Amino acid sequence: MRSLYIAGRMHCGSTFLNVLLGAAPTAFPIGELVNGLKRGPQEICACGEPLESCPVWSKIAADYAATTGRDFFEDGKWLYDQADIKKFPTAYRAGNAEPWATYYQRQNDVLAAIGRVSGADIGIDSSKEFTRALLTLRADPKARVIHLIRKPVPIVGSYYWRQTKGSKFYFMKRSYDLAKLRFPALMLVAGSWNAGVIAGWFLERAAPGRVLHVSYEAFCTDPDAELARMGDFAGLDLSDVRAKVAAGSALPLQHALGGNDEIKTGDGTFTFVPNAGGRRAMPALYRWGASVFSAPGRLFQAVALKTTG
Ligand SMILES: [Zn+2]
Repeated sequence: MRSLYIAGRMHCGSTFLNVLLGAAPTAFPIGELVNGLKRGPQEICACGEPLESCPVWSKIAADYAATTGRDFFEDGKWLYDQADIKKFPTAYRAGNAEPWATYYQRQNDVLAAIGRVSGADIGIDSSKEFTRALLTLRADPKARVIHLIRKPVPIVGSYYWRQTKGSKFYFMKRSYDLAKLRFPALMLVAGSWNAGVIAGWFLERAAPGRVLHVSYEAFCTDPDAELARMGDFAGLDLSDVRAKVAAGSALPLQHALGGNDEIKTGDGTFTFVPNAGGRRAMPALYRWGASVFSAPGRLFQAVALKTTG
């Protein structure tokens, strides 16, 4: 099995893209692979069962243990722990040195077990993290990355509305309780968006021709054209998915890991509804601030990243 990895920031739309691409006949929608596995065998699969009793993931874990002699969930957590954006420069330069050689081995072992059990050729991994995207490209010359870029103001808006509903603030793999610090914290999110754009550019340098930049807003405007472009890029037959998206039909979540809670509590299906602008506009100060803090990345994107066909 080769990986089709979705890279992007938090709230970039990776969850729905995993379901859409994973509905292709030769694909399996893994979801947020390492984020799901690191929570252990009691993590709930999109099918509603804990991974240890899900008919697919329990078999994958057993297959992995039988072929490698190692624990599937421990290795999933290890893969998660090795990759975060702060390690991107080290991983970029270090190439095949340790711990990366071990990373490639375990990554390929995990994908192979998923491929044997699911019977699919392409695993959609929507873990998002950029260092993991780089390591996925290095682990397998056939792996590919879709870099999904959503505009920073709606991303910050998504954080903002979750905050006002009492959600915790997740940033750099930690959760925080915010009160008066909401404005600076969300401006930090806007500023860190720039790092994602630049990391996306470095991914393409590391693996020319194996990274596709996709604009979330362009996708919402013309999902059929963008799905066609992604299908050509990844070698996926998306004709049935394109017809279903055009008709507004539901697609199965199958056994996807991680992702939004709304995905886990539904009826096992997902219907794509284009929503480029986000739910509601934030207060003007936040919109203005997010726009200013993300200006360098937006300029860089316009000059250096090709996001259209
Ligand atoms: Zn399942």
